[in-house]
Amino acid sequence: MNDTTELIQALAQQVVTVVKQSLSQVAEPQVTTNLAWIETALRDMLRQVGAEALGHWLSSAQPTPEAERPCACGGTLRYQRSRPATVLSVFGRVTYARAYYAGCACGQGHAPLDEQFGVQPGQVSAGLSELLALAGVELAFEHSQRWLKGFLLFDVSENTIRQETQTVGQTQVVHETRLREQSQDPTWLQAHLRTPEPIPTRLYGSLDAAKVRIEPRKKAEKQAETEAWRDVKVGCWYEAEPVPVRQQSVRQRTVSERGQVSQRATHIRYYCDLVEAKTFGELMWATGCAAQADLTRELVFVCDGAAWIWNLVTTHYPQAVQIVDWYHAADRLHRIAHAAFPQDDSRTRWLNRATTDLWEGRVADVIQACTELGTSCPEAQDATTYFTNNRARMRYDDYRQAGYVIGSGTVESSCKQIVTQRLQCSGAQWIVSGAVDTAKARAAWLSAEWTPVCTRWADLPLAI
Ligand SMILES: [Zn+2]
Repeated sequence: MNDTTELIQALAQQVVTVVKQSLSQVAEPQVTTNLAWIETALRDMLRQVGAEALGHWLSSAQPTPEAERPCACGGTLRYQRSRPATVLSVFGRVTYARAYYAGCACGQGHAPLDEQFGVQPGQVSAGLSELLALAGVELAFEHSQRWLKGFLLFDVSENTIRQETQTVGQTQVVHETRLREQSQDPTWLQAHLRTPEPIPTRLYGSLDAAKVRIEPRKKAEKQAETEAWRDVKVGCWYEAEPVPVRQQSVRQRTVSERGQVSQRATHIRYYCDLVEAKTFGELMWATGCAAQADLTRELVFVCDGAAWIWNLVTTHYPQAVQIVDWYHAADRLHRIAHAAFPQDDSRTRWLNRATTDLWEGRVADVIQACTELGTSCPEAQDATTYFTNNRARMRYDDYRQAGYVIGSGTVESSCKQIVTQRLQCSGAQWIVSGAVDTAKARAAWLSAEWTPVCTRWADLPLAI
């Protein structure tokens, strides 16, 4: 790799020299003063240089062809001729020549150079694929096309962007399948107990879900219903660290003033899927093994109160501390106060009292306060059930003392970022596999898992 870097640097020097010479020979440059135009024109020039260089690079890597070579089927391939091929690269279309073998009884042809570089003629190169997917996880496919042209200076079809983005998601599926298999393999689990990797002393987990609009695929389904909303479940693993005072947000400062250390999530890893809770639980266990959730000294789940979430947590991580997200619980009190009290004064008094009780761990008093509002207030009745069912997960005084994060802002914002921002673009309608692959690609991007995923893809060009 070092030789290659040096060679490319030497090339850059030579190109710079040629450019300098050429420009100095122009006696009186008829300059356009439109700098943006010049920048774009120069960028396009460099793109053409890149396309030439890459084509040449590939062609010159071709060793002298052998007369025959073994075929994958066990038969024999014979050298035919040097045959041109084209790939779409970050520089646009690149054509190169490589030795082509055919003539085996199985009818398959073969170009070893393509395999060596992981390229498929007519397809997108690894470098471009990564950029297309990067646009595709951030923007609706039809918008990313125009956006990409601004950077790349050539057109890529909406379908190609979709395909490359979803390929990243499919690579993630392959990876998750491997994690799932190892997390159910007793031998692997035994070895995992002695992992040399660092184990976080305290790890957090969160789960949430958000809706995505799915287009029914079969004709019969289409007649029965025009669209259906399905839940994309999102989970994440993270650690936490104190936020330095001068970096604190207004919300964090309010928390600090209440005597609580403001914390922020670090090492966040997201995973998601559009499956039933039980299957999602397997993914949670598999990704949890990879995050050492099963080995950490303290595992803490901070979530909203949905029953499926706590069921999964209890099934897979019975030792974990379960915390209902503070902001959800406090918001419940807010809504009751607004529903039950028309007067500002009495509303504020009730709300302050109940919020303080909740903050200081007196859940019984909160339940009592809700019960007292009685039958006249349906919100209060619902909340009585909610606080009663979750009282063991609302010991906020203990949690604060232990220094736990008590707000699940991290995973909620991830749900918004993965599902709401990308999959709920106005008018967006998905087929299940498209939604899942795009969501998984986006989760990888937001988890700083992007480079490993793209590397895995480059390593597996024929697997997908
Ligand atoms: Zn063959």
